[in-house]
Order: sequence, then C-alpha cells, then structure tokens
Amino acid sequence: MLDLTFDDTPTAATASAAVPVSLPRKYLFHALGNDDYELAIDNSNLELFTQCDTAAYYRLILGRSTGMTAATVYGQAIHSALDVFYADKALDLPPDISRMLPPALAELAKAPSDMLGWRNEAQLTETLVRYIKKYSSELWSILDVESRPAVELPFRFDFGHIDINANVACSGHNLVDNDLPDTPLYVRKLRIVYTGRIDLIVEQAGKLWVVDHKTSSVGGPSYYEGFRTSSQFRGYCYIAGQLLGREVSGAFANVILARQPTKTGRDIEYERQPFVYDESLLAEWRHNTFTNISTFVARIISGDFPQRTTHCTNKFGTCPYLSVCALPPHLRPHLLYSGNYTEHTWNPLA
Ligand code: SF4
Repeated sequence: MLDLTFDDTPTAATASAAVPVSLPRKYLFHALGNDDYELAIDNSNLELFTQCDTAAYYRLILGRSTGMTAATVYGQAIHSALDVFYADKALDLPPDISRMLPPALAELAKAPSDMLGWRNEAQLTETLVRYIKKYSSELWSILDVESRPAVELPFRFDFGHIDINANVACSGHNLVDNDLPDTPLYVRKLRIVYTGRIDLIVEQAGKLWVVDHKTSSVGGPSYYEGFRTSSQFRGYCYIAGQLLGREVSGAFANVILARQPTKTGRDIEYERQPFVYDESLLAEWRHNTFTNISTFVARIISGDFPQRTTHCTNKFGTCPYLSVCALPPHLRPHLLYSGNYTEHTWNPLA
C-alpha cells in the first residue's frame, strides 16, 4: 500500500540546482495499459477540488494555471534553505548559511526581481541567519525512514482502485500524459494514489511529530485554528505512522512570518505550534480523503464541474479564476487561454 519513492530526485541539499528551466505540462492521469489509469493526487489538488470544482477543472483538467507569485517564490526559497538546514542536522553537521543560500537563491532567480520587491536576497539572508540563531540547538531529533533521514520525504500511498468501465466525459487529450485525441476517454480501472513530500519527521521527548514549514505574511489565532482540521497535517501524520509503524502524535506548524520590513522591526517572526491528532482523526482523514477523491472522479466521469462560490474571495485575496468566472460562459475560454494564464506544470519540489 505504501511506497517510498526514492527515485533519482537529488537530496534536499542540491534539489534546487537540478530544477529544469522549462517544466512539462502536468496531467491528472497516467496510462497503465489495458485502459487502466493512475490518478495521483497531492494535497494541493485535494484542497483545490474540495474548495471549487470549477477551479479544479481549469487547473487540473484544462491545465490552465496562474504561475508564480512573489509570495510562493519566496516561500519556496526559504523552504529550500530549511531542507539543507535539516539535511545537515540529520548528519550532525553544524548549520551553514553558505550551504543554505545557493538553493534558496536559485529559487528566487526564477522570478523577475521587479516582481519580488522587498522579498530580495538581503531579506532572505537575514531571515535564514536569524532562523539559524533561534533554532540551531532545538530539541528535535530527525527520524530515519528506511535508512534515509526523514527530510523532504517523498511518498506514494495507494488507496486502491475504482472500477469505471465507461467513457468519461473529459477527453483523453486533457487528462492523460500521452498524446491522446480530444475525445471522451474509455477507462476500465482507475488506481488512486495519494502523493506528496513530508518536510520532516522528528522525535521530541519520546513522541513522533510531522513538521511542516510554512511561510506566511498573515499570522494570528485564525491562521492557526485552521490547522486543527487540516487535511494536509492529518494526512501526513497518517502516512508517517504507516511508514514508521509507530504512533505519530501530530504535526508542528513551523511558521516563518515574513512581512514587508517596517520601522517596528516585526517583519520577520518565528512561531511553532503543535497540533495533536488521535488515531480516530487519522482514520477519519483516510475515509474523508477517499470519499472526496471519489466525488471528484464522479465529476470527471460526468464532465460537470459546478462553481462553488464560497471561496471566490478569502482573507488572502481572490481566487485566480475570478475574472474568468465573472464572464459569460461563452467568453471564458478567451481569457483562460490568454497570456493571463500559463500552463499547469510539474513542480519537482512539490
Ligand atoms: S472564482 Fe469562485 S467559482 Fe470561479 S473558480 Fe474561483 S472559487 Fe470557483
């Protein structure tokens, strides 16, 4: 059921240097032969289609995305540096900013500097230097999984398969990573796989914890409240428990609050909060997730992806497809396939 994907992906310390400049289009289905397909779902896909079917249709089926933002590039840069910090820690090497910076700067270099604004090299360096100072003697000890430190740990969890035995309304051309015609796709069985990468698995005072690095400009109680029912956190705890064969107590949100520098000096802050999930919550995650994926598969079969407007705007801003959804349906393809949207591509670090 559970498979560690120890592929040729570079270790955390060198991953960023290997990112190709041009990434291929990401498709939902992978052909297994005999009209069988695999549907690999990661946490961001899961969140997308549980929030809005239309958004999932635009991004995951039609492959139209909104590309990078300054916040996501900066967050990925910090994440890359923390991967080095913890990969070195697992080897008992002291923190070394000169090793952490290169992969982080490689991430920053993916965006035009005028887009990044205050999220520049100097601010990034200051953030990492302060992180080292704050956490170089932290009490976490990093677990090994199959003789490999649990840092940026890739996984695949096999949920089993769904018998379809029918044409699905969405075309093979949109769904499959082969060059198939733009006609409904016949699917016999659909294998469902949950994939992702766990940032860290650690032990503290005899208890096991998943750690997830977060970079946010918004903190406060409501930010942390959301982690109590987080599908990502519960899912990663379930997976970590399966990998280790031991009970996992919960997950730490390892948060870096990164804001535009101000005179008050509160532009960079570090916060950690643990969230405990008992066995019944993790079992519920498994049930919920398979049910949600099955519902999405039913959408793919029917070709009906209704708008769910609750998430058109939220505290972080507006849905990137708001301008599309605001148009009459017959005009939407013009905007969706304009330069405002880019191809949805693989992110080898996701
Ligand atoms: S704008 Fe609203 S309805 Fe349209 S895709 Fe986004 S969340 Fe869904």
